[in-house]
Amino acid sequence: MKTIKSFFILTLLFTLGYGTYFYFHDTDGPLALLDPSGGSITRKTPITLTLNDETSMLAQVTIVLIQDGKTVEILNKDYPENTPIAREEIDLSKQFLKDGLLTLQITSRDRSIYHFGDGNTATTSFQLIRDTRPPLIEVLSTAHNLTVGGAGIVAYSIGEVVENSGVQIGDYFFPGHQQLSGDYLCLFTFPYNADPEEIPQVVAMDEAGNQGVGGFYYRLKQPKFKVDKIPISDRFLKRKMPQFQDFFPQAETPLEVFLNVNRILRPKNRAWLSDVAAMTSDSFEWSQSFLRQPGAATRATFGDRRHYFHNDKEIDQQTHLGIDLASIARAKVPATNSGTVVYTDIMGIYGQCIIIDHGLGLQTLYAHLSSMAVEVGDVVERGQIIGRTGATGLAGGDHLHYGIIVGGVPVNPIEWWDKNWVRNNITSKLQLSSEQ
Ligand SMILES: [Zn+2]
Repeated sequence: MKTIKSFFILTLLFTLGYGTYFYFHDTDGPLALLDPSGGSITRKTPITLTLNDETSMLAQVTIVLIQDGKTVEILNKDYPENTPIAREEIDLSKQFLKDGLLTLQITSRDRSIYHFGDGNTATTSFQLIRDTRPPLIEVLSTAHNLTVGGAGIVAYSIGEVVENSGVQIGDYFFPGHQQLSGDYLCLFTFPYNADPEEIPQVVAMDEAGNQGVGGFYYRLKQPKFKVDKIPISDRFLKRKMPQFQDFFPQAETPLEVFLNVNRILRPKNRAWLSDVAAMTSDSFEWSQSFLRQPGAATRATFGDRRHYFHNDKEIDQQTHLGIDLASIARAKVPATNSGTVVYTDIMGIYGQCIIIDHGLGLQTLYAHLSSMAVEVGDVVERGQIIGRTGATGLAGGDHLHYGIIVGGVPVNPIEWWDKNWVRNNITSKLQLSSEQ
């Protein structure tokens, strides 16, 4: 009891002492915070000033704008008693300003009894750079022949340092990669599921938030995708669905698990490809076309519209976004070009899979493997055996599901197997970024 009492007395003394200390020792003016506190702004960037003086309360603020030696007062305001915090939106859109450096000088006063009751005054200056010009983009490559579901590359230069740049097609964005020359290369796909009316454009955003747009000439071909009927047997469902049951514990029948795998797990796994796409180098470390697994027959192609049937009733539709290659069971799988291994593990519908990065967002996917012979970080050569085919994940029988991915979006591998296509559409445009 005695200890509790002395603890209380101590706390009381401490609180009193602390309060007294502050009452007589607030010799600082209010704290002024500006958001943004520096860097670049556009004509429209919202600027917010926050003033804080919880000790002595706010009395008054003056905001002065300075550019090229000219001074304009843009706010002079008194605060009512007991105002600890104030927020002021600063609107510079009506000021006559030039692009370049400008200063906002904030002078504020509190209600401290110091200075014979005049309070403490604090002055803080913030320097901002006004930038209202969008980045200027010059497209260096010409004649872009695109196919829906296929790839293309664009070379461009930008007149200033930017935060990001790349190719925008509808909601899809493919980041560009700056080269040693200072110019940029952007490998992109006209996505298999994008509206053919969308217009691909090079976009760039500077630090202030100004967006520049650069158009480029292109031709777009719409391929005819195959329509495939796929019967789903009860035997297949009983054999393959137990491994996916954990993902969907509420699903009551193997058919229900299958539909969940198709409609929920499949899109999730595709979205995951976008995360893997970020693990890419800024240049290609290959120059030849891509290999095709030797001796294997093509069982399914890119873009196949698959209609799934169960007991003669259509139950679902999906698009096949790779090429299925089948030969013997546990066939050797070669790396189809040189690159760096960025993923080796089990991933949903793909089962055991390997992803190799080939630079500029270009990656190859090897799915349903029975074994894997490489690890993340390994640098592999074109033709090097990286694993063996299998039927892991959502596969009915032993085969290789081979995918080529551009910026996280599957593309048609056929183009990359054709050395003329690779030369005409990809490698011949790479030099453009280094020619001055
Ligand atoms: Zn497949």
